Amino acid sequence: MPPTLTKGLDQKCYDCGIALKKTEVAYEIQGNFIDYVEHDTGEISITLCSGCRERILEYLRKDQGDAILKRKEIEREGPGPKKPLVFPEPEIDEFRTPDGAGVGM
Ligand SMILES: [Zn+2]
Repeated sequence: MPPTLTKGLDQKCYDCGIALKKTEVAYEIQGNFIDYVEHDTGEISITLCSGCRERILEYLRKDQGDAILKRKEIEREGPGPKKPLVFPEPEIDEFRTPDGAGVGM
């Protein structure tokens, strides 16, 4: 990948794993974690893309009855495809040429 396409991709979505620019981080969760599988605890900071943010906020809004129905659906049909990623409209400054003389792309 050419360097101009990877410049600024120093963040990532910790759900879907896609590289993000700082301006594309849509949500951040900070706090303590408990790993019940590895029997570990600690502090964590998780950043999300806008698509994963939308999906997680949708789950937070739904109640336990919805969660039970989803489990029954998955057990019957499988998990299905993940929703496509949604990114905010980029600010025009992101497309300035490296010398600042004009607008790229
Ligand atoms: Zn994501």
